[in-house]
Amino acid sequence: MSTSGHWSVPLAGLVGKAAAALESGLGITTAGQLLDHLPRRYADRGELTPIRELVAGEHATVVARVESAAVVKYGGRSRGGLQQRLDVTITDGRDRLRLAFFRQSWRHRELAPGRRAMFAGQVTEFRGVRQLVHPEYLLLDDLGVAGLEPAEGDRRIAADPAAVDPAAGAFAGALVPVYPATAKLTSWRIGACVQVVLDSVPVPDPVPEPIRARHGLTDLGTAFRSVHRPVDRADLRRGQARLRHDDAFVPQVVLALRRADRERTPAVARARVPGRLRDRFDARLPFPLTASQAAVGAEVDADLARAVPMQRLLQGDVGSGKTVVALRAMLTAVDAGGQAALLAPTEALAVQHHQSLLGLLGPLGRGGMLDGDPDGTGVALLTGSMPTPARRAAMLDIASGAAGLVVGTHALLQDRVSFAELALLVVDEQHRFGVAQRAALTDPSPIGTVPHQLAMTATPIPRTVAMTEFGDLDVSTLDQVPSGRAPVVTTVVGTAEHPSWLDRGWARLVEEVRAGHQGFVVCPRIGGEDDPAPVDEAGRRRATALLDLAPELTAGPLAGVRCALLHGRMPAEERTAVMRAFSAGEVDVLLATTVIEVGIDVPNATVMVVVDAERFGMSQLHQLRGRVGRGPAGGLCLLVTEAPAGSPGRERVQTVAATADGFALAEADLLERREGDLLGATQSGRQTSFRALSVLDDTGVIAAARADASALVAGDPTLAGVPELLAHLGDAVPASRAGFLAQG
Ligand code: ADP
Ligand code: MG
Repeated sequence: MSTSGHWSVPLAGLVGKAAAALESGLGITTAGQLLDHLPRRYADRGELTPIRELVAGEHATVVARVESAAVVKYGGRSRGGLQQRLDVTITDGRDRLRLAFFRQSWRHRELAPGRRAMFAGQVTEFRGVRQLVHPEYLLLDDLGVAGLEPAEGDRRIAADPAAVDPAAGAFAGALVPVYPATAKLTSWRIGACVQVVLDSVPVPDPVPEPIRARHGLTDLGTAFRSVHRPVDRADLRRGQARLRHDDAFVPQVVLALRRADRERTPAVARARVPGRLRDRFDARLPFPLTASQAAVGAEVDADLARAVPMQRLLQGDVGSGKTVVALRAMLTAVDAGGQAALLAPTEALAVQHHQSLLGLLGPLGRGGMLDGDPDGTGVALLTGSMPTPARRAAMLDIASGAAGLVVGTHALLQDRVSFAELALLVVDEQHRFGVAQRAALTDPSPIGTVPHQLAMTATPIPRTVAMTEFGDLDVSTLDQVPSGRAPVVTTVVGTAEHPSWLDRGWARLVEEVRAGHQGFVVCPRIGGEDDPAPVDEAGRRRATALLDLAPELTAGPLAGVRCALLHGRMPAEERTAVMRAFSAGEVDVLLATTVIEVGIDVPNATVMVVVDAERFGMSQLHQLRGRVGRGPAGGLCLLVTEAPAGSPGRERVQTVAATADGFALAEADLLERREGDLLGATQSGRQTSFRALSVLDDTGVIAAARADASALVAGDPTLAGVPELLAHLGDAVPASRAGFLAQG
């Protein structure tokens, strides 16, 4: 989110020469950006940095004690005479780190044993020993002299931080801020610049006083002082709470503005017309809708009946029946005189959607044909790889309106495709579209008018993510799976304890095939000539490659079974052909990578074997197993893993086997990713910004911010009453004013 309007006082006149280094190293040019550059951690005055956790190659800031220092002579006549080097060993009390200063032996006067200092430099390794060569350092014992209050320290800051003791003020408190630094600019020089800004630049507050008061938040200036110059931990927490609030509130204001803009964007209302396609389709549906499908259908109908563009996200687990919901909306649009398009992320999915729409519609989808219903409409398919004549014909039907329904890939978005009257755009698996594609999706220009939009996703979206990333959309959830469908039975095959179980897995697969069903084998990577090695440089076994496993299977346990390969390096037409053959029952088992993850709907597929299951995300495994058991025969998913019992990878696989709820798995994934971040943080001495909202812990903060922002924008749609907020939003506002559709 842009905050470039955020009091953009240039730094050049404030911090002297450091301004250039701040810009080149960190991209920081304004006072506001510098205050937003928050410490990554705080060193307690007495604390030393764990040396064990330093990683070779990284720029580290280390607080440590000098253990020994010795001047060493090296070189000789051949190298232009003897030279002196100062070798210093610093310690955190447990581990040691070597420092080397070439031709700077005079520094031994400063770096005497027992002194504490902050050192900054790149960690390198020399003959297996980690070291810092020519680190910059800041002696800490001289600072924070008893009785030196932060306020007094502040006054010691002069205009050019490079010219003054950079530690003053910044290090007078009990907590020493450690900033993300660069090779050219140490943490403490950054800190000194921050102090200058804190003391010379007034901080306007974008959050209106009543909102601050309601949540007991300090003003922004105070908050910045609390995080850059904390008196104690409590002070720091107050500052952090305020900044965290802003992280939630400011984006919510932008989202509220976008929602308000949408309310002002005209669209054509497409109310239901009784007795037409939609009603006749409902009457011929071979199954009753689930309560969830009916409820979401009613929400969508209400949206379509308004003269404001629908912007709804439909999330539902695999198999929850999103396609039927979408198709009913599409028929409503056609009944009301418009066209509806369904956009799929891949050719294979587009082809499959086209076929399943035709199947569901029966004669209603053969409008204009001899055997079609006189009230029916045409269903066009348009993909990039279609032969030119077929493409032309499809484009003609789309332009003339003969095709009320259109299914396609992003080829549909190209400007040569013109619709007679596009009323509704449905986007399947919207997260699979890249950023640029999404922008094209939501850009009204290629289609002339602003259509209603329904985005669908099978990836469950935790509530906070729905409120943030998708906060300008209305969200509907299909939380029921059509009854009569047997759940997928998931079994973990632990080959570490029971190597022979793998053979039994293959035997199960063959049994299903003998019984007339179909199945999948999924591998984590493709393999082939580009990466043939079974073991990586570190000696770890690499993930099983599809191209290695496939010949073993077809020559061994799957001999006599009709197998076909499916992976992302195959040309699109070939993949489509394989999918067709599989759908038609001409192939028994697909040997595949995760390309089958999304949307494949072959009800006769009953079994899936996932190889090296621990290499997949939990949500991903859940998506994968959704490909089987889509028919009455139920499904079986075997998660094969070599990860030993008790290992983290094995635990994840067990969790998937024990959990049928896709939302729970998505949240578990999020949690794991966060723990991974924290783990990475301790290993590298780095820490993800504390300011970052936690999507798991801060649901309450985000929900409150959303309510505040909505109320604020409802009462003051132009934000004229809160000029500081308007200025803070900067670029974000004019862009949103240009229309929410342009935002994507
Ligand atoms: P997804 O949400 O994964 O896209 P689909 O829309 O592809 O799910 O539906 C999965 C299967 O369930 C399809 O074969 C579809 O025809 C069928 N289906 C959809 N709704 C129902 C229902 N209410 N009762 C029974 N089967 C249904
Ligand atoms: Mg689907």
